[in-house]
Amino acid sequence: MPAAAASPTAKTPAPSRAPGSGLSAVQRALRKLGLVRDIDFALYLPMRYEDETRLQRLADAREGEVVQVEAVVTAVEVVYRPRRQLVVMVDDGTDTCQLRFFNFYPSQQKQLEVGARVRVRGEMRGGFAGRQMMHPTVKAAGTLLPNALTPIYSTIAGLAQPVLRREVQSGLARAALDETLPPGSAPFELWALRRALQFLHYPTPDVSMATLEDRSHPAWQRLKAEELLAQQLSQAEARQVRAAQRSPVLESEGSPGRGDLHRRLLKVLPFGLTGAQQRVEEEITRDLRREVPMHRLLQGDVGSGKTVVAALAAARCIDAGFQCALMAPTEILAAQHFGKLVGWLDPLLAEQGLRVAWLTGSQKKKERDLMSAAAESGEAALVIGTHAVISEKVRFRKLALAIIDEQHRFGVAQRLALRGKAPEGREPHLLMMSATPIPRTLAMSYYADLDVSTLDELPPGRTPIVTKLVAEHRRDEVVERICAQLAQGRQVYWVCPLIEESEAVDLRNATETRDELAAALGAAVSIGLLHSRMPQAEKQAVMQSFVAGALQVLVSTTVIEVGVDVPNASLMVIEHAERFGLSQLHQLRGRVGRGAAASACVLLYAPNEGGRLGESARARLKAMAETGDGFEIARRDLEIRGPGEFLGARQSGAPLLRFADLETDSLLLDWAKELAPRLLMHHPGLARQHVERWLGSKAEYLKA
Ligand code: ADP
Ligand code: MG
Repeated sequence: MPAAAASPTAKTPAPSRAPGSGLSAVQRALRKLGLVRDIDFALYLPMRYEDETRLQRLADAREGEVVQVEAVVTAVEVVYRPRRQLVVMVDDGTDTCQLRFFNFYPSQQKQLEVGARVRVRGEMRGGFAGRQMMHPTVKAAGTLLPNALTPIYSTIAGLAQPVLRREVQSGLARAALDETLPPGSAPFELWALRRALQFLHYPTPDVSMATLEDRSHPAWQRLKAEELLAQQLSQAEARQVRAAQRSPVLESEGSPGRGDLHRRLLKVLPFGLTGAQQRVEEEITRDLRREVPMHRLLQGDVGSGKTVVAALAAARCIDAGFQCALMAPTEILAAQHFGKLVGWLDPLLAEQGLRVAWLTGSQKKKERDLMSAAAESGEAALVIGTHAVISEKVRFRKLALAIIDEQHRFGVAQRLALRGKAPEGREPHLLMMSATPIPRTLAMSYYADLDVSTLDELPPGRTPIVTKLVAEHRRDEVVERICAQLAQGRQVYWVCPLIEESEAVDLRNATETRDELAAALGAAVSIGLLHSRMPQAEKQAVMQSFVAGALQVLVSTTVIEVGVDVPNASLMVIEHAERFGLSQLHQLRGRVGRGAAASACVLLYAPNEGGRLGESARARLKAMAETGDGFEIARRDLEIRGPGEFLGARQSGAPLLRFADLETDSLLLDWAKELAPRLLMHHPGLARQHVERWLGSKAEYLKA
């Protein structure tokens, strides 16, 4: 069914006024549905339709069919067995039928007096007492029949269907739906937008329902073409804006007066680069030499070695005499990067009187001030930290490259804040890193203005992680497994379940699990506990002792999710794995198998009371057991969740498609991709109008 998803303006904040104040209850309800502008109403499509356009004869009505008849009331009775109900007999001259109402009002009784002629619509059922309809809708007979199907919209409490229908209808009538497509811009039949929308709200009764349901009807095609074009236009625009921006040119090696940090770093690295790392490094280096800001996504599965690529890019930037910022979403992750990069770079930088600085929110003021000063003076050639790095107070002398790890955790606003940090009139080059690969179809449409580099090769010497699904009642076997690993001097992660929205409950669960494991494993085994509620310093300390090998088992909530690197950890147990998302499971699993030892991941799952797992939980666990390939995981994740959830509005920064589907509408997508730049060039006014209609205030946002 053509379900109407949230409107593109659903998340737009209400202008000036406090949300909801001075609005009627209906307006508030409409706003909740994202219905504000006329165009929002016009684009709010029915989830289904009812056919009230014709009358049938009772004699022709089949069981199970929804029918509309006009008939005369021949008998009315309120009966009390088995419960109070109004029973009405009607006769249309061809047959009779009984109507039953369990909830009824005096007004209804009046409408259904003997002798009254009524129009009745409902599902025909068989029964002991002959044919009947339960709770049919009843109207006065003889009124004009509509000549279109009746739309039924998805609604919420406090907003009655007829009210919503009326609002949508008038919004549709008022909306400016002028054509923005120049004539002849499509090689296929394209309905006018107004005609298409009018039709989708009020289809003619002869329409093939199947073409509305699978959205192949020309009216749907027009709408989807329209939406895809808006998306492509906004991205083409973003590309143009970027092309007009300027970044520092980061020439490094070979040029006179440039540093040789990059070369020296390569020398001190304890390993050689993989082929994929070399290729990606070159792609980045090429970008950095250009005056147009780099806008590149580096995607690579967990453990593919993104950090060193980031370090090499930073070195190039520093060699050119500029500063680099590296941000990670969590303090622990930032600390890991810091630890690694300080080790590699600080000794080399010291020779030039430079250093790596560290900035986080939890830092003592005195230390933070020192670090900020180092960033401002330029002494800090590389600043690593959480989003504290982009706080307003931090100034850089000459920032030229910003690297964002696990980019999907950062919002567009945070990426925007980075821009203000570059020297006057310049933009920093931007390198985003992600372990969640974006499937090709999504990359094509949502990230059209993003260059993508892929690390498709793992460093040598890794043994694949064996993944086992184990039912909760076999927990004991898991404890045995843990013992076996510990006996070999290995370390173990135990990840506790996510309990929704309550850190306190999470903490209690994690603590209980720790105690339980302590009892099972014996006092000789050292077990640490990591939880997001713990003070930063404490978290840090626990993590550090696990890294150092002083702790053998780390019980943790998902704070270890990204990036943490402990090569000696060879087993990960994930409790209540059925509650985790697929990508999240894959990320977690990536914490093991980082060294040469054979590693395993145990997914403990607990079926619900019925002894079964939900369908999507089963699909997730199955995918985990069947593949270790991050791209395949991402593909399945997309399949299970659909693009909306997969990306999350926050991650994409771009509004998601409501109507079009990237797979089934790939021809329309190709058309839109091809048309967008031409439209921008030759009809900029129309292009603006088109984007504005679809994206409203979000259009500005996209230029980030
Ligand atoms: P991710 O892509 O998940 O961020 P990391 O950058 O943390 O991966 O790298 C994972 C591990 O692999 C680290 O211990 C890192 O030092 C190591 N590593 C990276 N590149 C190579 C390489 N070319 N050869 C051997 N080990 C490497
Ligand atoms: Mg990483």
